[in-house]
Amino acid sequence: MSGASTGFRTVPLASVADSAAFAWGVAGLLLAVSVALLCVAANRHVAWRATDEAARGLRDLYENISEGVFRSTLDGRMISANPALVRLNGFSSEEEMLNEVNDIAGRWYVEPGRREAIHRMLLEHGKVTGILSEVFRYKTRERIWIEESTRLVRDQRTGRSRYYDGSVREVTETVRRLQLQERFEKIASVTAGCLYQLRTTPDGRAKMLYVSVGLKRIFGLDLAEAEANPSSINALVHPDDRRRLDESFATARTTLAPRRTDYRIRTREGVEKWVSGHSVPELEPDGSLLWHGYVEDITERKQAEERVHRLAFFDPLTGLPNRAALVERLREAMEASCRTGTSGAVLFVDLDQFKILNDTKGHHSGDALLVHVARRLDDVGGGDASIARLGGDEFVVMVAGLAGAPDAVQAHVASFADRILAALARPFTINGAPFHTSASVGVSCFNGDDADAGEHLKRADLAMYEAKASGRGQKAFFVPEMQAAVDNRLALTNELHDALDNRELTFVCQPQVHDARGVIGVELLMRWNSPTRGEVRPAEFVALAERAGLSGMLDVYVLRYACGLLRRWAANPGTRDLSVAVNVSCRQLRYGFATALAAVIDAMRIDARRLTVELTEHVMLDNSEEVADIMAQLKAIGVAIALDDFGTGYSSLSNLKLLPIDTLKIDLSFVRDIETDPNDRVIVQTIVNVANSLGKWAIAEGVETEMQATLLRQFGCRAFQGYLFGRPMPIEDFEGWIAQRGEGVIYGRVPA
Ligand code: C2E
Ligand code: CA
Ligand code: CA
Repeated sequence: MSGASTGFRTVPLASVADSAAFAWGVAGLLLAVSVALLCVAANRHVAWRATDEAARGLRDLYENISEGVFRSTLDGRMISANPALVRLNGFSSEEEMLNEVNDIAGRWYVEPGRREAIHRMLLEHGKVTGILSEVFRYKTRERIWIEESTRLVRDQRTGRSRYYDGSVREVTETVRRLQLQERFEKIASVTAGCLYQLRTTPDGRAKMLYVSVGLKRIFGLDLAEAEANPSSINALVHPDDRRRLDESFATARTTLAPRRTDYRIRTREGVEKWVSGHSVPELEPDGSLLWHGYVEDITERKQAEERVHRLAFFDPLTGLPNRAALVERLREAMEASCRTGTSGAVLFVDLDQFKILNDTKGHHSGDALLVHVARRLDDVGGGDASIARLGGDEFVVMVAGLAGAPDAVQAHVASFADRILAALARPFTINGAPFHTSASVGVSCFNGDDADAGEHLKRADLAMYEAKASGRGQKAFFVPEMQAAVDNRLALTNELHDALDNRELTFVCQPQVHDARGVIGVELLMRWNSPTRGEVRPAEFVALAERAGLSGMLDVYVLRYACGLLRRWAANPGTRDLSVAVNVSCRQLRYGFATALAAVIDAMRIDARRLTVELTEHVMLDNSEEVADIMAQLKAIGVAIALDDFGTGYSSLSNLKLLPIDTLKIDLSFVRDIETDPNDRVIVQTIVNVANSLGKWAIAEGVETEMQATLLRQFGCRAFQGYLFGRPMPIEDFEGWIAQRGEGVIYGRVPA
């Protein structure tokens, strides 16, 4: 504190005066009488007829009163001081004090000029009362606060100022307390939260002893209202959180431990907020509790937490729970299943045509479909199922709490899966156009039990693959054999690694014939002669090799073999016009493939035109620009391109026209039923027409009967491959076979 004037401003003087009013009143009266008495006693010119007793009484009072009483000269010297004033100034006797105090203006008041100011007021009004000043305890120089009342005593006859009479009271304690209170009020008013002190009595009554303005900011309540009626605060607590809040108070009441509760309130304006209430209970002698508390607004923090939670546990696109959230729910459901003996199931849902939509119509369309799918799954699940999106087009639906025997549960889940399949089979509207898709559903049931959440997800995933493999729009339940199949595949993959190293892979070839030209070439088909498994067909290991990242090695292997074969055949007039077709894994069709092939062709010095690369139609679904580039490079090298399994994929006619494809291989699934299925006949006829009109070859695969060949010829197809013309056979057998046949059209069966 820099001076008493600051003290005037910062300390609410009125309250000091209030609090001291009673004492001051008594002291003032006493002072007036005693000072007068003493003055008179000291001045023998005036006659005074008091009894000795009265004089002694007043003297006693003067000596023992707690107020300091003084008389001083106008220039600041002390004339008299009672014991209280002597003590106040740190002296031990009046004599000592009167000797030492000679400069009240300069040495008593902390603020320079303070005495001058009071002096002026005295000249003007004759007296001052209840003036608050900071002064030095004269002897010790300790700073203290005093309240003084002084009057200017004038000569009655001449009116000249003679001296000052006054009383002084130390109020340091009061001032300090007020300063502290003022600081506290300041802090409480700028603190964001609300400080309070509440007393609750054992019979349940509550009285608000103090509440800061934060209450108004947070709860929107007037302080007066809250103080008069503390339950007006409780009335704003969210009904769902009221019990939790009451419980927290109840616990603190018994344990006397500090409590903290986060809860919601709804202000009278209807604004919902999150607040955090802390309080410390203090037991009073009468059994009441004094709660020292603080309530803060944590709405923003809660919202931020919510956002983080949403990011961590929800898929932003569909708003569905994500994998982490699902695993958590699944865990809880499985625990509940253990406790209650009920069952549940995890259904893994995968869309069959998602990739096509995403690749052909862009990610926006894909996203739109996913949102629709999420909604439909929600509709099917109603409130009973938990639905999550794991990513991509993979959704998981979980049902739990199913009672009944395993068969009944399985039947229930099966019909639920059927409802999901049916819901997703209905056309969607994407960008205003209808889009048809189907889904595959894999199911893993749980009861108790043997596997954890992650394992059940894996099982459902496996079952889903099984469902997909058995055709579109299907469901499959997990059975342990599926796991065995996976394990087997894993073992197979490892063995395949070794097979490549140990040259266990060989090739057979199947002739391709043309009505007018006879045998035109062969297709190389890979065989794996495994020492442990016997002969393994490519259907079993090629896809595996692709998944294991080995297909690139297989491709290089078959291309080298094909080039070696062409080189050998070029030297022989009976075989030099034959072409060799090889199958290439579409997943490996990446930049660099054509360059690598060109290098092999160069090194072997063969005629590139004799080599045909068979790509499945699905290759076009991958990045089609990249595929077009690679096809162009292949054509530049001179190799021919055939589109394998044609009719099963989704190539558009415009694509076909643009891409440098030489041959369409009609998939054997259409040839197989051509005699019986009119649809297949239409498809085959269309493919042949398309090929002819685009100037490409059509070659029919899997031709087994004369009838099939006859029908194919009727539709305009001239080239064939199939058991009818020749089974896949070892190369040496083929070479012997062709040498025997010589030139010309080949009809009739070749022995297997
Ligand atoms: P693909 O290219 O469509 O080969 C035709 C498949 O049909 C061959 O089965 C062949 O043996 C079989 N086939 C031929 N004529 C007939 C017939 O008249 N009736 C019936 N029912 N089937 C016939 P394979 O050899 O088991 O090959 C299966 C698939 O494995 C091939 O289908 C091809 O996609 C893949 N593949 C074969 N060799 C290789 C290879 O060296 N590399 C790669 N990447 N894939 C290969
Ligand atoms: Ca093929
Ligand atoms: Ca084929």
